Amino acid sequence: MISIHGKGVSTGVAGGPLYFYRRAQGTLRRYNVEDRGAEWQRFKDAQAKAIEQLGELAEKAREEAGDEAAMLFETHQLMAEDLDYEEAIESGIKEEGKNAEAVVTDVAVMFAEMFASMDDTYMQARAADVKDVSSRIIDILSGVVQGGIDSDVPVILASDDLAPSETVQLDKAKILGFITSGGSGSSHTAILARTMGIPAIIGVGDQLKSEYEGREVIIDGGTGSIVIDPDEATKEHLMAKRAQILKHQAMLNELKGKENITKDGKTVRIYCNIGSVEDVHTVLENDGGGIGLFRSEFLYLNCDDYPTEEYQFAAYKKVLSDMEGREVVIRTLDIGADKQIDYFQLPKEENPAMGNRALRICLNRPEIFRTQLRALYRASAFGHLCIMFPMVTSVWEVKEAKKMCEQVKKELDEEGIPYDEDVQVGIMIETPAAAIMSDRLAKEVDFFSCGTNDLTQYTLACDRQNNDLGRFFNSHHPAVLRLLKMVADNAHANGIWVGICGELGADLELTETFLSIGIDELSVSPRSVLPLRQKVLNTTVADCRDRLIADLLSDQITI
Ligand code: PEP
Ligand code: MG
Repeated sequence: MISIHGKGVSTGVAGGPLYFYRRAQGTLRRYNVEDRGAEWQRFKDAQAKAIEQLGELAEKAREEAGDEAAMLFETHQLMAEDLDYEEAIESGIKEEGKNAEAVVTDVAVMFAEMFASMDDTYMQARAADVKDVSSRIIDILSGVVQGGIDSDVPVILASDDLAPSETVQLDKAKILGFITSGGSGSSHTAILARTMGIPAIIGVGDQLKSEYEGREVIIDGGTGSIVIDPDEATKEHLMAKRAQILKHQAMLNELKGKENITKDGKTVRIYCNIGSVEDVHTVLENDGGGIGLFRSEFLYLNCDDYPTEEYQFAAYKKVLSDMEGREVVIRTLDIGADKQIDYFQLPKEENPAMGNRALRICLNRPEIFRTQLRALYRASAFGHLCIMFPMVTSVWEVKEAKKMCEQVKKELDEEGIPYDEDVQVGIMIETPAAAIMSDRLAKEVDFFSCGTNDLTQYTLACDRQNNDLGRFFNSHHPAVLRLLKMVADNAHANGIWVGICGELGADLELTETFLSIGIDELSVSPRSVLPLRQKVLNTTVADCRDRLIADLLSDQITI
């Protein structure tokens, strides 16, 4: 038995075979084949598999976002068996004797150039499709696994850290838990694990060796402990702990349907953070009162080209309709920093967390922003939508973004397209500048939601992705808590509501503090709703308010 340790970032105990995440290598091999007939057959098999995969993706997209979303994959299916495309590949293999990967690559470039040079914009857009279909076929030919997991049974997934674009593609049904060598508590692998309600351990460094692949492993996301080839006694102990956790979960389930009210009658809204349309069912399953943060950039991460208005409209409409009138806060595009998307072709930056990201991109590239706002306002007719802008630092940014909203509404009026006139528009408070300017910003918006992941990183000058900062990254630092109090006071002085949607919102050690400073909404991962409700039910705010606020403002604070 081998024991190693990391930092637990999502609780729970799980056991299963260890599996290392496979990443595409990206190196193309070129060679001449001897048996041209066999090579052609190899291509035909890969083509058939690609068509099958695309069919499955179309079904998934249809369930999650409707017919419009499914169409993209269906177009790709047609492209994969297009006669001209197939003939060009057949000639490269059968007449020139090249290997299938090389031929598909060359034919894809040739077709993409041909489409791109056409006058018709619809045909120009097919260039991206042919490249996409071809890379799927090449991946199959070269044994790269779509979604990174080639296993028939669910696994404990190990990796260095996963990029957001990788997490969206994972086949979630196959994951029992995560172990990463790098990462941090607010990295997207950790956030994903908490949303899925499965254990995750980060920062194990080089203790995790590739020779452990396939061996039995049990992880405890509460303590950060990992055992490989557990002996019987350890297995029994950890499985008993797992049973205990499941029992506790059953007890929490009894809290479903109850109000979030403290012993002395203060209520707070407990909402959920989601990253995809399919997360809505875990919100409902865990009795979340609404959605306080839908990270819309995951729709963009899931596409190979800018998602169209129709595609986005279908996704937002589905979330709003599935939430049946409950409040849904959709954050506009927040890419840049750790969420990079190739097709945006953003220039490389030395310091992307402080660079061209989120609202900055939207204001600099209004066409992208306009498409998203049109999709959002159109979808607002199907539920209770609030729109939220990320990474604000100045009042002018908010004014400019609001102006775009007004323009979009005017366009929809002219086109006779219905939308909800009462959509609330709010901002995230995730930069110290926004917190400090919150008295002025509050006059421009209907609500604030504090993004404590970024607010902590920018306030403490500690990179949220860096797991080595140890005690310097103190998420309870009074500088952050004081800013939150300032924001809450400024919100209430101006008659607007204030929430927290960063990971700190689920930190039960701070629930009393948040209620004391008057936070109106806590938006957390779906699995954190019931533990948070339990905490709220056991809290008496009046008893602790004065002490906690005095502590926050005290000169004695030494941290
Ligand atoms: C945050 O910064 O706290 C937040 C909720 O946004 P994200 O984690 O997506 O940056
Ligand atoms: Mg953020």
